[in-house]
Amino acid sequence: MARDPFAIAERMRLLDASGIRKVFDLAAKMTDPINLSIGQPDFDVPDEAKDVAIEAIRSGDNKYTQTQGKGELRQAVAKLCQEEFGWSDAMERPYLITSGVSGGLLLAILTTVNPGDEVVFTDPYFVMYSHLVNLAGGVPVRVGTYPDFRVDVNKIADAITDKTRMLMINSPGNPTGAVYTERELRDIASLASQYDLLVLSDEIYDLFCYDQPFVSIAGMYEKTLLLRGFSKSYGMTGWRIGWATGPKPILEKMTMLQQYTFVCAPSIAQASAMAALQVDMTPHVRAYKKKRDLVYDALGETFGLVKPAGAFYAFVPAPGGNATEFVKQAIDNNVLVIPGNVFSDRDTHFRLSYATQEETLQRGLEILKSLA
Ligand code: PMP
Repeated sequence: MARDPFAIAERMRLLDASGIRKVFDLAAKMTDPINLSIGQPDFDVPDEAKDVAIEAIRSGDNKYTQTQGKGELRQAVAKLCQEEFGWSDAMERPYLITSGVSGGLLLAILTTVNPGDEVVFTDPYFVMYSHLVNLAGGVPVRVGTYPDFRVDVNKIADAITDKTRMLMINSPGNPTGAVYTERELRDIASLASQYDLLVLSDEIYDLFCYDQPFVSIAGMYEKTLLLRGFSKSYGMTGWRIGWATGPKPILEKMTMLQQYTFVCAPSIAQASAMAALQVDMTPHVRAYKKKRDLVYDALGETFGLVKPAGAFYAFVPAPGGNATEFVKQAIDNNVLVIPGNVFSDRDTHFRLSYATQEETLQRGLEILKSLA
């Protein structure tokens, strides 16, 4: 038998990073670009959380923690859920501290999706969703939300088949910045209830909600698998920490899988996450709201941009309707944004991240406007 020692497993076949790689290849030629492509906050970890992390390292908090995470942090998360969702049994529910929401997504999808199972989510979507579902042998089923990125429950209903395993939602959303209203979430919950579906809710941008208070489906629908993180809310992208809660049988298996994969979330990040939860981030959120307004004022009318209500992205229609072409033009003019086909079956929009200094953003917006 001819053996190929460098053979790649079949499951990797559908993983593809060519779209984003092309953009970064183009970007590599830029010197000092106006970078509006970055998916992380430009503010740093709050000092209170840094101090706790440094002290944790010095005092020897450098070992494995329990697989499910430190008890104190899980209790803090339980308390948060009790207050936000009014769960009377919040302290008894299962919580899992994960290595970022990415870690939570991987565990959730590997735990629930069988080969051939369909996972429904809206398009545009966070890139990881398609790849992780494919990795599990599942079938991503994307439901278009153009042009306004509102969720149309009838379209979701049309996408549901006997093979549907779960529905994934992401509000506030990456890359669109769309925030679902309470009404929309109630409609999703009642649809899910009608088909007895598991709903995975990725709420990593929960803090970044500018025009209405944030609402979670977790408070409306029991069969919700809720994922939240610290990466965006507290500028901790490099610290790899998030949390999950949801139906007990699923959380138990996710915890078991964590035991054999990630083992635990970083001990230092867990220590500091408790401190982070005490920090008021509203000044940062207010600053991002102002940046959102700058983006909308600059591009709203000219580009036909739908006003994003959350996260820190705008998903902007590309002049001429071809995002890849427009992004090339933007790059030629020293502005880096990402073409929509990285996040979508379509390539008609580009993603702009306004998580950057206001002055940089202003310069970028001026240039983009001149290209319209
Ligand atoms: N979900 C969404 C929608 C995201 O945008 C991101 C980060 N870009 C993640 C999950 C993963 O974040 P992390 O693993 O850093 O918590």
